[in-house]
Parts: sequence; structure tokens; C-alpha cells
Amino acid sequence: PKARVVVIGGGYGGTIAAKYLQMSDPEIRVTLIEKDSAYVSCPLSNEVLGGERDLASLTFDYRGLTRRGIAVMQDTVVEIDPVQHFVTGASGNRYNYDKLIVSPGVDYDWAAIEGMSEAVAEKIPHAWKAGKQTQILRRQLEAMEDGGVFYIVAPPNPFRCPPGPYERAAQVAHYFSTHKPKSKIVILDAKDAFSKQALFQAGWEEHYGDMIEWVSGAQGGIIEAIDPETRTLMGSFEEFKGDVINLIPHQKAGALAQTAGLANESGWCPVDQRTFESSIHKDIHVIGDACIAGAMPKSGYSANSQGKVCAAAIVAAINGEAAPAPSYVNTCYSIIAPEHGISVAGVYRLEDGRIVDIPGAGGVSPADADARTRALEQQFALDWFRNITSDMFT
Ligand code: FAD
Repeated sequence: PKARVVVIGGGYGGTIAAKYLQMSDPEIRVTLIEKDSAYVSCPLSNEVLGGERDLASLTFDYRGLTRRGIAVMQDTVVEIDPVQHFVTGASGNRYNYDKLIVSPGVDYDWAAIEGMSEAVAEKIPHAWKAGKQTQILRRQLEAMEDGGVFYIVAPPNPFRCPPGPYERAAQVAHYFSTHKPKSKIVILDAKDAFSKQALFQAGWEEHYGDMIEWVSGAQGGIIEAIDPETRTLMGSFEEFKGDVINLIPHQKAGALAQTAGLANESGWCPVDQRTFESSIHKDIHVIGDACIAGAMPKSGYSANSQGKVCAAAIVAAINGEAAPAPSYVNTCYSIIAPEHGISVAGVYRLEDGRIVDIPGAGGVSPADADARTRALEQQFALDWFRNITSDMFT
């Protein structure tokens, strides 16, 4: 082959980088290393909590990428050797690379809230990685009695999917309003503002009355500790005892990025935002949630866009050309009710080495949209999902 490129992580970023490298230059040998045999999408997983879909509809395998000629290896990468240019899998396999792309997603900063740990998350689920965690939370919500209180603890910035906790509140309210209408949902937030806030708050009220309450950080929403046995959350001013608790932990770049020394003191990976090459290690690119990407939010669509920009830059470098001028895009849909979708969109460019918003090119759904527009946006959310997962897996 002309060159060997190894991609670690078969999620929203990694699948796209692997596929677009392979399509752009079939003489490059592309290997995708993913620890799981199937991928479960976080996008639309809040609908599983709302009872509108099952996990099977969010689960994808890697056969489509194999058919394209990409070597898909099921293995967990445990070490990266940036000097000798190889990575090692838990299987003992060694994979040599000329260029490496790392898209490991996020990891959790358990120490930020006293009493939390990976083991406790089996009982107090985060459901911030779809699959088993989503199922645990759904079962707890199903088992909760009517009149119970469900707490969502929302993390500080930056974190994966800025509108996610607020869409989750709406989806669970959708379920409660039809199955346990006396119940309450309280969001305890580390922040004082959140994505699409006015649209969410108007939508919550329209469909669910006063079922959802949001407590900002300044109002006492910051959680410092938890007693998982009594399901009690300790805030700065008061304690909250819940029937079901969904604690979404503070986040940082995926574990591999930490052990490989790709993250800085912020917990995230600094990169050249034109090519996504690590500012720390040459010939290693970091994309998706794990990287620091200027104004782009940590979303599946951002990871997709970054995967394409990164693949184009690597193909150019391998062929002795300069990286093309990048353009980046993101849209995040949120489904508030079965016929009520909202969105935020952004188009970005590089300015002085930093990814910045192009003024006027993006925006959020209109505040005064009619019911037809809201229903259309809900359909667009489902179309977006079909398109992006077909981009990833076929
Ligand atoms: P991931 O998609 O998480 O992929 C990482 C992959 O790497 C995983 O498959 C993992 O198994 C693998 N991996 C990690 N470490 C290793 C290793 N050492 N060896 C081998 N494999 C490894 N985004 C949107 O755009 N739209 C939405 O509507 C949306 N909704 C969301 C709703 C929720 C509830 C949540 C939690 C997230 C949502 N997101 C949404 C965000 C989206 O899921 C992430 O931003 C996206 O998955 C990031 O892609 P990634 O490639 O960085 O990481």
C-alpha cells in the first residue's frame, strides 16, 4: 500500500474518517479498530427512555465498512507508541501506522462528585453512552411509582451533546404524562444557561405543564456529593432525595486519549484545527468529542464533519499536497414531543487557526414557529439519523 492509516474508535467520528479515507484514495490501507462488535447510537437514545423506540433500532454493525475494503478489527487499544508509530491491542496484536486517527469519545471524571464511581453508575446510571446504561435507566423509570421524583444531574461545559439532558427531560416527561402523570422531573444543573434554552422551556410548558423544573447552578443546582444508598444528592444549599437519579458525570476525552498523553490539563486534546493533527504528537489526529475544536459543540454531526476534514487532510499529506481549505458543519435536533422538534445549526470556518462560527450561517428554530414546522422538524430529526448512520455504516 501507499500508506497505512489506523483509525481507533468506530463511532460517529472514526467510521467516517475510515470510510472517506478509503473512498478518497483506495491505495491507502485503512484499518479500523473498535472494541465492540456493534455500535449503539446515543443520538435518539433519549427516545428509548421516552418509550418511543428500542435499542435495536439504534444498533449497527461494521459489515458495510468491511465490504468497502476497510480492515475492521475488534480489539481494545491499550497503548499508542507515537515514536515508533504503532498501537497495541488488548489481544496482543500490534498495528503499525504511518498516520493514526483517534476518535475514542468521552470518559467520565468520577472524582468531581463525591460518592460517584463507575461501579455506582450501575445503580445511578448516566446513560451517556447508549446501550446497557440506557436500559438500566429505562427500567428504573418503568419501576418508579406514579408521584415519584426523577432527578437529572446535568454536567458543566464542555460535555457531549449540549442539548441532551434537556431533550431527555422532555422525553421522560412524555412517558410520565401518559403513564405516571403525578410524577415530577427536576434538572439540577451545574450551569446557569443551556443550549436552545428558550425553545426547550417553551416546549416543556406547552406539552408537560409544570412537570419539568430546572434548577440553575446559581439557584443551588450544583451537586457536590451523592449517597447512592439513600439516593440523596448533596447540593451547595440543600439536599435532594430522588426516586430515580440520572447523574451525568463531568466529562473529559476518552481514556485512551488520556493514557496516550494526547490530552492537556483541560482533559481534552489540543489539535491543529485545520487537520486535527495533535498539537502534542506528530502523525496522530484526534477527532470527535475528545478533541478541542474551537466553536464546534461535541456532537455526532460535529464528529462526522471533523472526520471528513481530517481524512481530506491526511490524503493530501500522503500525496504530498497541502491540506485543502476546510469547512465544517453541525446541526443538533432535539425531540420534545412526538410532533415537536427543534434544532440548532452552525457552519464554521478556520480563522487564525481556530474554528469559528460564520455569522448568520446558522441559528436555532424560530421561537414562534407553527405546529406544522415543529412537526416537520421532528421528521427532519429522524431523517438526519437515517442519513448520518447510513453515511457511517454502509
Ligand atoms: P463515539 O461515537 O462515542 O465513538 C467512540 C468509539 O470508540 C466507541 O465505539 C468506543 O467503543 C470506541 N473506543 C473507545 N476507546 C477505544 C479503545 N481504546 N479501543 C478501541 N475502541 C475504542 N449528537 C448529534 O449530533 N445529534 C444528536 O441528536 C445527539 N444526541 C445525543 C443524545 C445523547 C443522550 C447523547 C449521550 C449524545 C448525543 N449526541 C448527539 C452526541 C454524540 O453521541 C457524540 O458526540 C458522538 O458519539 C461523538 O463521536 P465520537 O466518535 O467522538 O465518539
